[in-house]
Amino acid sequence: MQIRENYSLKGLNTFGLDASARYFCSLHKLGGLRSVMQWAQEHPDLAVMFLGGGSNMLFVDNFPGLVVHVRLQDREMLGQDNDYVYVRAAAGENWHEFVRWTIDQGCAGLENLSLIPGTVGAAPMQNIGAYGVELKDCFYELQAVDWRTGEIREFSLEECRFGYRDSYFKSVEAGRWLIVTVVFRLPRNPQWKTDYAGVREQLDGKELSARIISDAIISIRQSKLPNPAQIGNAGSFFKNPVISPQQWAALKERFPAIPGWQQDGGVKTSAGWLIDQCGWKGKRDGDAGTYDKHALVLVNHGEATGADVWRFAQGVIASVQGRFGVELEPEPRVIQNAA
Ligand SMILES: Cc1cc2nc3c(=O)[nH]c(=O)nc-3n(C[C@H](O)[C@H](O)[C@H](O)COP(=O)(O)OP(=O)(O)OC[C@H]3O[C@@H](n4cnc5c(N)ncnc54)[C@H](O)[C@@H]3O)c2cc1C
Repeated sequence: MQIRENYSLKGLNTFGLDASARYFCSLHKLGGLRSVMQWAQEHPDLAVMFLGGGSNMLFVDNFPGLVVHVRLQDREMLGQDNDYVYVRAAAGENWHEFVRWTIDQGCAGLENLSLIPGTVGAAPMQNIGAYGVELKDCFYELQAVDWRTGEIREFSLEECRFGYRDSYFKSVEAGRWLIVTVVFRLPRNPQWKTDYAGVREQLDGKELSARIISDAIISIRQSKLPNPAQIGNAGSFFKNPVISPQQWAALKERFPAIPGWQQDGGVKTSAGWLIDQCGWKGKRDGDAGTYDKHALVLVNHGEATGADVWRFAQGVIASVQGRFGVELEPEPRVIQNAA
């Protein structure tokens, strides 16, 4: 296992930020884990971070510890019962390629999640979701390694405690578990989810199949979201805030057009709408800004630093707080060293 020093992460984060890791290694095989863990144990003061596609990261600072780049590859059809087909993928598999591969195998269920960047192993971290579907809808179980002990454990759907852009691994025990494989159960009689704005129109008159829906989602996403290969970004930068019914009622009175969806214990509103109303769509400060077609997406137009993007994000948070009294929470993981 080769541990490199002062390794550039510029090509490994979709914001394209010029950050580095103090130490870095790539994990291609599970067998290599023992030596990485041993190295980490010999350097107990160093933090460890797992990295997939770097599409949900904002590096404000360099990472002062060890970055383990998860490259584990493998896909397998496990079998089926009366209702489901079971499929397993290793953590380092590219998410979108995996989705298309399941479609090539005649499976359905993941089509609405097409073209989300990143890896299979990171997908459960924030229970990725798009166009009315979340990862948890097709999730069966995952295998993860306890970084403290090396023990391998299986986690069921319930144990993962998936929520809106959230999971046990993101908010309860962040950094402890290295996800190594994920098993999905894909319905043999799928119920297509095509009600989401824009999807039905795109599919109008077509005979539905997982491939047709996936193609439609790809085309919608390509028309709305910046391609990180051209403009650095991490997708939606803020979560849609969930506010109390009382606050919602007060806001609805003042801003009748505000969108909202009932959630357990509150109302989810649109972060993009709030940001847009504050006049941020397409705004730019140096090379940090919001995408001109989508106010929720912060972008790096070229040479922005992580600090530039973070400062810009703080401006957005402050103005939404000032106008609506709603606190926006970033969706990506923000790497920032204590001052
Ligand atoms: C253009 C664009 C569009 C996007 N659209 C969506 C969308 O529609 N829906 C959505 O939900 N997200 C979206 N995202 C966000 C992002 O793609 C997802 O969150 C994705 O799952 C991140 O995967 P990654 O491999 O890049 O993770 P990384 O950014 O590398 O890591 C994210 C987090 O997961 C941890 N992690 C990574 N791998 C592992 C592992 N094997 N075990 C344990 N922890 C791990 C990291 O430490 C970090 O905390 C979008 C991003 C972009 C750039």
